[in-house]
Amino acid sequence: MADRLPAVFLGHGNPMHAVAHNDYTEAWRRLGEAMPQPKAILAISAHWYHGERSVTVSVAPRTLHDFGGFPPELYQIRYPAPGDPALARKVQELLGPPPVKPDDVWGFDHGTWSVLRHMYPNADIPVVQLSMDGSQAARAHFEMGRKLAPLRDEGILILGSGNLIHNLHAYAWDQPLREAYDWAARFENRAKELMLAGDHTALIEYEALGRDATLSIPTPEHYLPLLYVLGAAQPGESISFPVTGIEGGSVSMLAVQVG
Ligand code: ZN
Repeated sequence: MADRLPAVFLGHGNPMHAVAHNDYTEAWRRLGEAMPQPKAILAISAHWYHGERSVTVSVAPRTLHDFGGFPPELYQIRYPAPGDPALARKVQELLGPPPVKPDDVWGFDHGTWSVLRHMYPNADIPVVQLSMDGSQAARAHFEMGRKLAPLRDEGILILGSGNLIHNLHAYAWDQPLREAYDWAARFENRAKELMLAGDHTALIEYEALGRDATLSIPTPEHYLPLLYVLGAAQPGESISFPVTGIEGGSVSMLAVQVG
């Protein structure tokens, strides 16, 4: 379908990218320019991972500074995109039952705004965030992506924000340009092969991929947004990787574009 929007997973990495201009932020900007303008964005961020499914319903969501120990400039940032209660209701219809809880307290966490500020700097496209229920198995997250897929035909951009590989214990804080650890390089290659082959089952059951996978995904919250994007793929759609790179040896900045 000509006007079906892509679905995109972005590796957001260090929050400081929000105020940086580098290869990653340039690539995010180009991606925003290259895609048809969405009517609205449904964001699934690693940083809204709790015990239930919630969706933001506010018309003017807050910008959350959900991190500690960063320079003051990062706390000054506001991403003033409007909300979209009608899209939130549509998400509730597509995903329920059980009902997805309406939430007017959460806003945009940094998983969402640190990348959107580069992709859509005018902040004029409405954004709704959907939380991930951490009590659900990986397959349930993939299935939610499936249920959300019809939104793509209505001009909605499904945006997952996390990191394919996110191991902060191994992260070289003083060497952001450190080469990827062997296990990280191997896992990223394997994951890309599986995506290109359309082997979603292996990606859902990632723990069975062995030690490289468990080192790459020590906790699931940064990985699961990818499963929403893969779940929203239609049979035979193209998969591409518009942003690549590994930070600090153990955080993959890989972006995945479906369609
Ligand atoms: Zn993060």
